[in-house]
Amino acid sequence: MDSSRPDLPDDEAEWRERLSEEEYRVLREQGTEPRFSGEHVDRTDDGTYVCAGCGTELFDSETKYESGCGWPSFYDVDDDRIEKRTDTSLGMQRTEVVCANCGGHLGHVFEDGPEPTGKRYCINSVALDFEEE
Ligand SMILES: [Zn+2]
Repeated sequence: MDSSRPDLPDDEAEWRERLSEEEYRVLREQGTEPRFSGEHVDRTDDGTYVCAGCGTELFDSETKYESGCGWPSFYDVDDDRIEKRTDTSLGMQRTEVVCANCGGHLGHVFEDGPEPTGKRYCINSVALDFEEE
């Protein structure tokens, strides 16, 4: 076992205990926080954004940019840390981004981001904890 990561809950009841109500709604029920409501939307500090569910390091502040969409936006991520899934909810075809370690819902990725990747990882603040450098 990888001892550097905390143990993951065995079931949804345990997730409910570990997470706040809002974290649970987003991470475990594919919820979305209201635009411009999240604590990380305007954050410009140097540091690392980790999964609020399991602590896995996900996004570097150097890849965060101002997209104007109302959610923290990043143009790059280590592909080993996330999984992408097709999401056809709400009558749209989108690509969902989940934490590869705990399966928590993070947000979506779109193809309208800046160079060099052209990606916009549109991520819920509540799905992320910020660790200052
Ligand atoms: Zn996670």
